[in-house]
Amino acid sequence: KIALFWHRRDLRFEDNAGLYHALKAKHPVLPLFIFDRNILDKLTDRQDKRVTFLYQAIERLKVTLRSKESDLLVRYGYPDRIWLQLLEEYDIQAVYTNHDYEAYSLERDEQVSAILGQFRIPFYTFKDHVIFEKREILSGQGTPYTVFTPYSKAWRAKCTEFYVQSYPIERYEDRLFKTSPTPLPTLTQMDFTASPYTFPNPDIANTTLQEYEEVRNYPAMDGTSLLGIHLRFGTISIRKLVRQAQESSLTFENELIWRDFYQQILANFPHVGEGKAFRPAYDLIQWRNNEDDFKRWCEGRTGYPLVDAGMHQLNETGFMHNRVRMVTASFLVKHLLIDWRWGEAYFAEKLLDYDFAANNGGWQWAAGSGTDAAPYFRIFNPTAQAQKFDSRGEYIKKWVPELNSLSYPAPMVDHKMARERCLRIYKEALDR
Ligand code: FAD
Repeated sequence: KIALFWHRRDLRFEDNAGLYHALKAKHPVLPLFIFDRNILDKLTDRQDKRVTFLYQAIERLKVTLRSKESDLLVRYGYPDRIWLQLLEEYDIQAVYTNHDYEAYSLERDEQVSAILGQFRIPFYTFKDHVIFEKREILSGQGTPYTVFTPYSKAWRAKCTEFYVQSYPIERYEDRLFKTSPTPLPTLTQMDFTASPYTFPNPDIANTTLQEYEEVRNYPAMDGTSLLGIHLRFGTISIRKLVRQAQESSLTFENELIWRDFYQQILANFPHVGEGKAFRPAYDLIQWRNNEDDFKRWCEGRTGYPLVDAGMHQLNETGFMHNRVRMVTASFLVKHLLIDWRWGEAYFAEKLLDYDFAANNGGWQWAAGSGTDAAPYFRIFNPTAQAQKFDSRGEYIKKWVPELNSLSYPAPMVDHKMARERCLRIYKEALDR
């Protein structure tokens, strides 16, 4: 008789809420990970860096659990079928996992919960990925916040030590199910190959955090944590990171609050998870959706150096600096009048730190259709942004080395014309 703990976006042993609760309960616990074909089959790049990252995290977790005479059970396939197989192979008494808030994951949990329910096996889920979720932070009227600043104040007021303390999992590790090694499917068996990419470390120095506020807006300075991919896959604990932020940088803590903010938006306004604008009127905008323009943006050939630098950084590394994400997104939506969902999908395909809630939040912010959005008539001037945030052109030189050669294109649209066109088209939709 055992309990299974199902890892998803929490690929660590330490400070893992659901695993802690599983170990404290009645049955010996065997941790599990499923390489989910419903997700993997959709990836177009068979050398997707994120799959390599995931694979390495699974290998590490397996080593950790082997050192405790247990193991990480790893399966590859469609979760519903895998669960039916597991039910035949093991005498499962309970299943534990951590909340995953994306639309597909919710559907998957419902399906698995129904399968387990047929066998009267309880399915317990816990908050682990964020500090506050769903309806934990509400306004005085009992409604979810849709503006960041009051949300962040309420978040800070509620965030006592209790919410950021670690789960002392080590105390219960002898409750892991003891087993001989179980096999790990290879990347090749899953039709992927490893990417040689070197991923950022799962930690950040206090000294870097102390400088964060000053340097974070300058893309050439590499002053941000690069922890996005670790937060996405849970190879770092959000509680640990918030504790560190509270000691070293409240500005950095603010960014982590943005992360919770967008997660609760997704949970409380499920229409954003269904491809809709947060503000419905914005779905009336008549996008131009010119495919050639979109291609030039994707490839970083717009003739606006900061936009092109950002797209090159994204295409080559899977990362783009936040300031430049804002500029490239705004350019696509407002200068080219291309539906923000096209850009959202492109970022989803490329970003190592891709996270539905944050990406959707960022895109809807840029489009003006989201929560807390800048008013639609504020349109970034990509040239002025470059002068302000990359005044010596270092970032641009790094990512657009062809800038001063004949092969560099002229701006694909005139800023003034694009600005006026955008204002007109937006106004037409919003004045209806
Ligand atoms: P740091 O500046 O070191 O911040 C630390 C962490 O705080 C980040 O890793 C992230 O988890 C969180 N964070 C920071 N800013 C935000 C924010 N505005 N919203 C939510 N969380 C935030 N962030 C993602 O994690 N995944 C995405 O898919 C994503 N897509 C974006 C798309 C657009 C159009 C825009 C404008 C922003 C997007 N962001 C996204 C937010 C932000 O750009 C990244 O979190 C940040 O650049 C990641 O780099 P870092 O880890 O060095 O961040």
